[in-house]
Amino acid sequence: MSFFYFCDIIKMGGDVEDSDEKVVYKKVNELEAGGYISQGGALSKISEAFEERPVQVELLENIVKAFNENKIAVFEAGTGVGKSYSYLIPSVLWALVNHEKVIVSTGTINLQQQLFEKDLPAVERIVGKKVKYVLMKGRQNYICMRRLSDAASILDLFEGESEELKRIAEWAQNSDTGSKSDLTFMPSENVWSKVNSESDACMGKKCPFFGECFVMKVRKEAATANIIIVNHHLLFADIESRLSGAGYEDAAVLPPYRRIVFDEAHGIENAATSFFSESITRFKLNKLINQMYRRRKNSESGHLCSLAILSSNEEKAGEAFDLTNKIKLALTNVEIAAKDLLFNDYTMRLYEATARNFGPFLVAVGELSRALGSFADLIKLIMDGIDEDDKDAPCYWESKIILRLLYDYVILLKNFCLWDEKKEDVFWIQKKRLPPDMVRDGSDAEFVILTQTPLDISHLMNEGVFEPMSTVVCTSATLKTGRDFSYWMRRTGISLSDEERIIKGEFPSPFPYNKNMLFAVPSDAPLPDNIQFQQYIEMALPRLIDAAAGRTLVLFTSYESLKSAYQTSVALLRGFSGRIMKQGDDDNSKLLDAFKKEKESVLFATDSFWQGVDIPGESLSQVIIVKLPFTVPNDPVFVARSEAIEKRGGSSFMELSVPEAVIKFRQGIGRLIRRSDDKGAIVVLDRRIYEKKYGQVFLANLPECKRVYEPISELFRKINSFIFN
Ligand code: SF4
Repeated sequence: MSFFYFCDIIKMGGDVEDSDEKVVYKKVNELEAGGYISQGGALSKISEAFEERPVQVELLENIVKAFNENKIAVFEAGTGVGKSYSYLIPSVLWALVNHEKVIVSTGTINLQQQLFEKDLPAVERIVGKKVKYVLMKGRQNYICMRRLSDAASILDLFEGESEELKRIAEWAQNSDTGSKSDLTFMPSENVWSKVNSESDACMGKKCPFFGECFVMKVRKEAATANIIIVNHHLLFADIESRLSGAGYEDAAVLPPYRRIVFDEAHGIENAATSFFSESITRFKLNKLINQMYRRRKNSESGHLCSLAILSSNEEKAGEAFDLTNKIKLALTNVEIAAKDLLFNDYTMRLYEATARNFGPFLVAVGELSRALGSFADLIKLIMDGIDEDDKDAPCYWESKIILRLLYDYVILLKNFCLWDEKKEDVFWIQKKRLPPDMVRDGSDAEFVILTQTPLDISHLMNEGVFEPMSTVVCTSATLKTGRDFSYWMRRTGISLSDEERIIKGEFPSPFPYNKNMLFAVPSDAPLPDNIQFQQYIEMALPRLIDAAAGRTLVLFTSYESLKSAYQTSVALLRGFSGRIMKQGDDDNSKLLDAFKKEKESVLFATDSFWQGVDIPGESLSQVIIVKLPFTVPNDPVFVARSEAIEKRGGSSFMELSVPEAVIKFRQGIGRLIRRSDDKGAIVVLDRRIYEKKYGQVFLANLPECKRVYEPISELFRKINSFIFN
């Protein structure tokens, strides 16, 4: 796709001065911008199915205001509002008239593709101007032509995978994008990680492939783009490098910008938490060590050997054998100590109450950090001894990537030892089991993960995003918990901003929920902590599935409960013609495809299916929520966050557990009605929603719809008649 930049423009509504930078911006006229999607406007002329949505126009006008007045906007927009036009049109108008980039950040690939392939081309037609827009992915998604070419000379690293490498090379010759997602097959992580683009291994202008480099091409495009679409993860990578010294004036991971639109903003806290977390396992570490140095039957191999030949510090390479042995021994000791600690548990947090028990573990971690640090220093010494002229050798660039990762691990391990000075982070260990096909003879099936996670991302978000940006628009279908946005604003750091900069709004779905949605809760269900609860749901699910003739998504909070209920349902529904699937049977996307295509099918699912599933039509006529989705109390990050609330005198249940569960619950409910003519039932088998006081917070954000709270035998009949009459 090719785009052109065009900069004559749009009618304006006045000027606005950015007080910090003394830049005078041209305002976008709210009413004229709203006119594009109003009756008689450009959208009505190009879309046959056009129907004016006042709520969409209102949202758009408010977003224009956020641009014109340098605001932080928090806008909840229900399903069907058509929020992408409401933010894309103001973003495009602002970008064109002020020659300023706008970043649109989303949580999912699906939405990015929809914006890039469908919505932005439509917006170009609506505003009648050429708009330059690019979809940028993290650089690791692109092939590096230099590494690909060098890979041929280090084929020993591709044991048994050279065929896959050849296929990638053939594809790269003809690819327009160089993006992994355009490959017709899914490359193994091992092969892709050796040929993808990495900042540490990038030779920049010195690279012989610079002119044809896919990363450079997309960066060049982005540098002159009006709109850049990214995911939250890439945006945080950019923010991190700006906070670490790159500043906001020049290009970092992204070109410089001052305006951001976050769509799917309910996921910001999780995305930031995951981005700013660090973890280490024996697999990750062994892989790096083996790439650098390996000795088998007196023969040595790996990048370090190649580096040593080029280095004036060659003789130092003799230390590698002892150092790598020390690392392996220390790593084994860390795993033994961690497993002793965990014993029958799967996770454990390092904090005041457990610190004493962590003693031997921390001694082992300290040993590992010193051994690893010495090995990393050795690599660096050998690399420093290489002449400038020899630095274009492939082994030099590959080692740069590995060296940075090794130093990152050294920092993580040191941080574990300094945990009590780092109150802003959560340190925790976790035990996991390898899938049976990955367990080699004699190797341990269980492995340990050491993780450092930020306790709170609000200050980081405030410092990195909300303060330095002129406009930030945050939108999603689920930002409210109960009556207001305070929970979400507190968690993401918006509440730390000047109150005058914040504008909030609610833009309800135009769908007729009162006609199309039935909300049903069985009044005779045992409460979830009752031993009979699992038995009850296993009795109820097959009959609910039967009542809706399949077409059901069942959302669980526990995989154990899912597995057991699935087996019972399959057994009891033996004569049922629809397919009954469960998460884990296949790729999530393949399961969803099958669920969409086979109208009567049923899907039993957990976590990732609570959000992002978009199946309009009859294939999804019933969503069953087995339990209110409270986070399990053994999640160490959640517990640490709860404790922090209790310490300052708050109630972690009402301030964290309930609001977090409400957002997830609302996401789950949002799977049902995706179009105005969709119809169906939401069944919540957890009657705490009516029996407990906090249930009101869950109910407060339900759209107006028919509700029944009756014995389950009544519900089967009512659901069937609601869906099919
Ligand atoms: S410029 Fe950098 S990313 Fe591009 S091909 Fe060269 S080394 Fe790879």
